[in-house]
Amino acid sequence: MIALLLAVSVAFPGAGAKLPHLERCYMSGACERGVTNLTVQGRAVDVYRTGGWVTMLDLVPGTNTIELVAGGVATNHVFFVEPPPQPQPPRVDADGDPLPPPKPRVYEKLDYAADSPRPHPRGKTPAETLIYLDPGHGGSDTGTLSPHAFPEKDANLRVAREVRKALEAKGYRVKMTRDSDVALVLTERARAAHAEGADAFVSIHHNAPGFGSDPRTVRYHTVYSWNPLGAALAAKINARMAEALDGDIPSKGPLHANFAVTRSPEVPSVLIEVDFITTPEGEEACWNVARRRFIGRAIADGIADWCVSEVPPRP
Ligand SMILES: [Zn+2]
Repeated sequence: MIALLLAVSVAFPGAGAKLPHLERCYMSGACERGVTNLTVQGRAVDVYRTGGWVTMLDLVPGTNTIELVAGGVATNHVFFVEPPPQPQPPRVDADGDPLPPPKPRVYEKLDYAADSPRPHPRGKTPAETLIYLDPGHGGSDTGTLSPHAFPEKDANLRVAREVRKALEAKGYRVKMTRDSDVALVLTERARAAHAEGADAFVSIHHNAPGFGSDPRTVRYHTVYSWNPLGAALAAKINARMAEALDGDIPSKGPLHANFAVTRSPEVPSVLIEVDFITTPEGEEACWNVARRRFIGRAIADGIADWCVSEVPPRP
């Protein structure tokens, strides 16, 4: 009986999950080895060498019951989709005159970050330079899941350990926000780095597409920052990653983003999206120990490049 139940599994969307209103979403999961004749919603789906699969679903508002047939065994997977949003009446004041649109949300810096940047570490020896690594998610916060339900939190920690090893080999002092499977409060992740006078804060993640996007069409790496202080570090790391991953996955370049962990005017802070683990190819790539080591070295090289970089000319 267990063998039948294990014939096919779904990593996303989880059973009973509630998705926002969408007409299509991706679904990913894994089959037992040897199962190749998988249909989802009556359509044939490619099963990869590892058993991973991914496909797009047509959705209806409310309960969605998706039939999966693998190896002649049918199973149903149930989750929910929100109804379409109702049109909102125009905002008016007491006299019925139209009100201006609401102001965009203001993102506050981390409350423990000072207002001015720490001195750049150029001139310091690596042994005097402290790099803080932040493997994203942890504990009950798994991050995104691969088709075999391998959690992003583990992929992040494995890459972070490779970065630490490569940085320590260059003589740098390295600390990590976590070195085990523990949950951390998002806005607290960078607190110790600020208290201990870290020279840089590097958060490490793996990406997932929006629910409505086909994961097979999006796979790249990028480095995000919030301000010019972080952007200089992001550019150096991105350049080394682009060089290392040339011909493997494309770079989307260093980008701006409002992530809680990077909002520091004091410590140069970045968030790396190493790859997407939502496709069978991305999952297999993140299981590859040699590739992980290679990426870890590239990130460490980028951090080291930034540590010795010249003061950028004033525009
Ligand atoms: Zn993440």
